[in-house]
Parts: sequence; C-alpha cells; structure tokens
Amino acid sequence: MAEADGATAAPRPEPDPDNVSWIEPPVCPKCGALVRIYPTNYDRWVSLAAVELPAKDVPEPFRWRLTRLPDPSRLTTDIVAVRVRGVDPLPSEPVVPAHRMMCVPD
Ligand SMILES: [Zn+2]
Repeated sequence: MAEADGATAAPRPEPDPDNVSWIEPPVCPKCGALVRIYPTNYDRWVSLAAVELPAKDVPEPFRWRLTRLPDPSRLTTDIVAVRVRGVDPLPSEPVVPAHRMMCVPD
C-alpha cells in the first residue's frame, strides 16, 4: 500500500507543529532558508516555512495547514500538509506559509 503511494520513507519522530526545532533541519536548496518538508494529501511533498504567520499576512495560494491524516492504513505518515482553500480563515488565524512565498525569485 505504502509503496503504491510512493510513501516509502522510514517513520520519522513525531513532528510537533508548535516546535520549530528539528533534527538536522532541512534547508531550501535555492536560498538556504530553514524549511519544513511535509507530505501533502495528494502524494507530493511541500516545503513550508519554519514559522506560522497570521492568515492576513499570507496570500491565499500559499496558505497551508498541518493536519493529522485520518486514514489509519497509511502508517508511514501521521502529519500531512493541506492547502487552506474554500474556507476563509480569520485574519489572525495562524497558517503555515509555503516556503515559495518567501524564497528568492527565479
Ligand atoms: Zn528558498
């Protein structure tokens, strides 16, 4: 099952969304900034900023949220990144910006 999904990575320590510390923190290959890399709910991986920002400071296309995967059969991953769409978060509600928002331009 997991291999069909391409989700073959070994289980990682439980990430805590409130804790920005990380074992061997990943960095963006383009700008060198600290990023958090999470699987998405559609089998892609996404680089997210290491900090959360209020929704009002993050343009809609870059808003992500970390959530627990409801499907218990996918044992390799507990936390997935989900785009915040269809709902309008409160301006002060914290969202996780995609790192692309703050990365250097192409
Ligand atoms: Zn970058």
